[in-house]
Amino acid sequence: MKTALNRPKKLLGIEQAPPRHWVGDGFPVRSMFSYDSAPSLSPFLLLDYAAPAEFPPAQVARGVGEHPHRGFETVTIAYQGEIEHRDSAGHRGRIGPGDVQWMTGASGIVHEEMHGRAFTEKGGTLEMVQLWVNLPASFKKSPPGYQDILDSRMPVVSLAGGAGSVRVIAGKFDEAKGPARTFTPIELWDVRLEAGKVANLNVPSGQSTGLLFLRGGGRVNGSKSVDEGELAVLDRDGETLSIEAGSDSTILLLSGAPIDEPVVGYGPFVMNTEREIRQAIEDYRHGRMGHLD
Ligand code: MN
Repeated sequence: MKTALNRPKKLLGIEQAPPRHWVGDGFPVRSMFSYDSAPSLSPFLLLDYAAPAEFPPAQVARGVGEHPHRGFETVTIAYQGEIEHRDSAGHRGRIGPGDVQWMTGASGIVHEEMHGRAFTEKGGTLEMVQLWVNLPASFKKSPPGYQDILDSRMPVVSLAGGAGSVRVIAGKFDEAKGPARTFTPIELWDVRLEAGKVANLNVPSGQSTGLLFLRGGGRVNGSKSVDEGELAVLDRDGETLSIEAGSDSTILLLSGAPIDEPVVGYGPFVMNTEREIRQAIEDYRHGRMGHLD
């Protein structure tokens, strides 16, 4: 019997990778979407994708130096290479392939994001994603936080029919729960599919959903082909996704309950009002978000 909970989500559009820009001198990224332009993928504010890029050996680590955040979370997923983090709340961490850093900016934090020391010295390929996740107004003033989520802690679930696998960073796939603690319901899955196979995935009702094809390509709910480096954006309505992989594919699935509140952002601050933005700028200037040691 067909229930109310197996309606296919409609594909709203396919976002192509815009031109690359550099974040600091370490991260050559393409912003696949941003909260200040359509489409809305609330609670997700922004996704920067650094496609594989080669870095020669160096003495001094590249990256982005001391800067603040307030009002949201930054989630960094390393696919290749190594990234080191240090922040004003005293957290330090280094992530490598498969690992994730989940930083809660909330009331305010200052951090730096650099290539890891060993990676800098040896050189190599860097590939990463940084996703900005909004916080509801009620949590924007919470204390900052930091989660290092190592690959070894994430469950990997095999898909039916040998189609591939789902590695759960946040949320739940089948009965496997991802280790990330989130403020609002969020699914973040690293999906690997084999060429010619079909994966049938379910996400909770009413969520904003995007599928970033980092490698490979395929069709989503019968769409035309989504190619490598493109982001499929799906309607909030519906629950099911059928992904038909045209070639071996690596897909980042993001899905979350929308936060229907005003979004006002300026650089590294995302709040609900202009006044809160002015306050954030002033607080940062006066050192109220802390400093790195
Ligand atoms: Mn940052």
